[in-house]
Amino acid sequence: MNTNNFYKRETNPGTPGASEPPPSKMPENIHGYKIRGFLKKGGMSTIYLGTHPETQEPVAIKVLSPKYLKDEEVIQRFFRESDIIALADHPNIVKLYSQGEWERGLYIAMEYIEGTSLYQYLQETTLSLKEALEISLQIAYAICHLHSHGVIHRDLKLENILVTKEGQVKVIDFGIAQLLDEQQPGRRPRRQIIGTPIYMSPEQKLNPESVSYPSDIYSLGIITYELVLGRTNHGKVHLRNMPVKLQPILSKSLQPNVKNRYQDMVAFIADLSAYMN
Ligand code: ADP
Ligand code: MG
Repeated sequence: MNTNNFYKRETNPGTPGASEPPPSKMPENIHGYKIRGFLKKGGMSTIYLGTHPETQEPVAIKVLSPKYLKDEEVIQRFFRESDIIALADHPNIVKLYSQGEWERGLYIAMEYIEGTSLYQYLQETTLSLKEALEISLQIAYAICHLHSHGVIHRDLKLENILVTKEGQVKVIDFGIAQLLDEQQPGRRPRRQIIGTPIYMSPEQKLNPESVSYPSDIYSLGIITYELVLGRTNHGKVHLRNMPVKLQPILSKSLQPNVKNRYQDMVAFIADLSAYMN
């Protein structure tokens, strides 16, 4: 059984060129949700648009690719994603409807977020400094909520954040998120590279198992830099391109040594809010 693909998977489905065509045969119904269309092919799953049978609300349904149905490790991770979404209750985090089995495998049903990825949004929109920082702050609130529940996202990047027409930010994709108490100190890293290098803190690049809350703060530092810059920059940061009084906040978010970084999302939020005011 080869699970390597899981760890090397493309977590960039929002990137041009990375998307795949819809599957030729779409299911009509998944666990009572009527399927209306195909949304995206993700790394290990397909995401469909469905309708909730009672409320008629749109639902996003993530279906695990059949080839992984015999892979215990992948299955565990798939349901850990829904467990983590279920833990969260925040306006800036996608909501879980249900999860389980259907006739052709496993699914997670979530709130459908009508919007674009922050990656696409940044390409199509010219953001003012205030708008850029308001988006960053919404992400920070979402992450702060996750951290207070012991969850590290581990894969924060523009593609995993959606923006609605109203400008509301929603964090998605908890596929590699981790509950802090799952970590076992001293355990050897099983396999390499989980996450996306550009947004990844140095300690996470070195050892995917050694992440802590400040690892998410580092990723948000890169995201904030790109939002203010107005474009992606392949992980290269030149703080001199930033407003002078924002520089120390970004610098403290992006410290390579985790000890010198913000330790707590609350401190980042406090400094960013003070700067905005
Ligand atoms: P992967 O782990 O494969 O990256 P994601 O959870 O990021 O999977 O989902 C892949 C893509 O599907 C997202 O980038 C987004 O475009 C779309 N998507 C996922 N969840 C939702 C949702 N709840 N509402 C709308 N679109 C979604
Ligand atoms: Mg993703």
